[in-house]
Amino acid sequence: MRATLMYGAGDVRIENVPDSVIKHPTDALVRVTASCICGSDLWPYASMSPTSAPARMGHEFIGVVEDTGPEVSTVKRGDLVVTPFATSDGTCEFCRDGQHTSCAHAQAGFWGHDVPDEGGQAEAVRVPLADGTLVKLPVAADSALIPSLLTLSDVFGTGYHAAVAGGVNERTRVTVVGDGAVGLLAVLSAKRLGAEQIILMGRHKTRTDLGREFGATDVVSTRGDEGITQIRELTGGHGTHVVLECVGTMPAYVQAFGVVRPGGIISRVGVPQYEQAPIGFGSLFRHNIRLAGGPAPVRAYIEELMPDILDGTIDPGKVFDTTTDLSGIPAGYQHMADRTNLKVLIRP
Ligand SMILES: [Zn+2]
Repeated sequence: MRATLMYGAGDVRIENVPDSVIKHPTDALVRVTASCICGSDLWPYASMSPTSAPARMGHEFIGVVEDTGPEVSTVKRGDLVVTPFATSDGTCEFCRDGQHTSCAHAQAGFWGHDVPDEGGQAEAVRVPLADGTLVKLPVAADSALIPSLLTLSDVFGTGYHAAVAGGVNERTRVTVVGDGAVGLLAVLSAKRLGAEQIILMGRHKTRTDLGREFGATDVVSTRGDEGITQIRELTGGHGTHVVLECVGTMPAYVQAFGVVRPGGIISRVGVPQYEQAPIGFGSLFRHNIRLAGGPAPVRAYIEELMPDILDGTIDPGKVFDTTTDLSGIPAGYQHMADRTNLKVLIRP
């Protein structure tokens, strides 16, 4: 079968690999019908060292169950399913707390890291812990809802996690840092939770226009001190109760504590590209600022978010602005890195 491999920065190839097969009694084999490239795939695309042991890519997909191990009971051959970007058993102490990305099971983890021999940007995937991981979709594989349902794999659930971890409610003013797919869906999530004001920080007009469609009340296109000043002006000088940081860089973090209101929360879902950051008197401590967020346990949100997609209330799939087959994936990475595409949908 064909799959996507990354050999180093800027070096993505589509190659023939051994067919995925069932290895454990709790596995399912899924033929991928829709997948995509993630903003987080762009970090290794920018910086990965050249290697002869390439990484399998892709952690978001929808597909048809082709086969199941003898212990799988919640999905069966022929079912259309969506996966979260991490596998989980759904039964351990952490899964029961809604912390599926911290699942204690030995086979749980992130595609590409803990499940290194599988990836979603491929023709098929072996899914460990199928009962806990996969969610059956009540539509056909060619449904017009597939792009929106695919965002349940990662970007919508991640934006939603940012808003939930930040405690967004109808009394909340929110700043969203970042106009990538996660940032835009954090806007949609804040809107869904009833936020009073949603300020989107972003510089790309086509993206911030979509952000307005998703519910942003204001757009700030400047950064640094100027951006901080503008947000303070929009909020009576106080900043916002919650900042959803959907980038992961140090400048984005500095931006976040520059615009958060005393007693507020910075909720981070952009993968931090740093280990050390200011938390002292001059940043968080002086005004009781709290830090929240982490890898989104998107599995916890799929059933909650799916009905609004199925009945057409929301259309998070609008973050996809192009579609390709497997052969178009290497160019898709480059177009996302160049910011000429927001998010690439893949139909293998
Ligand atoms: Zn678990």
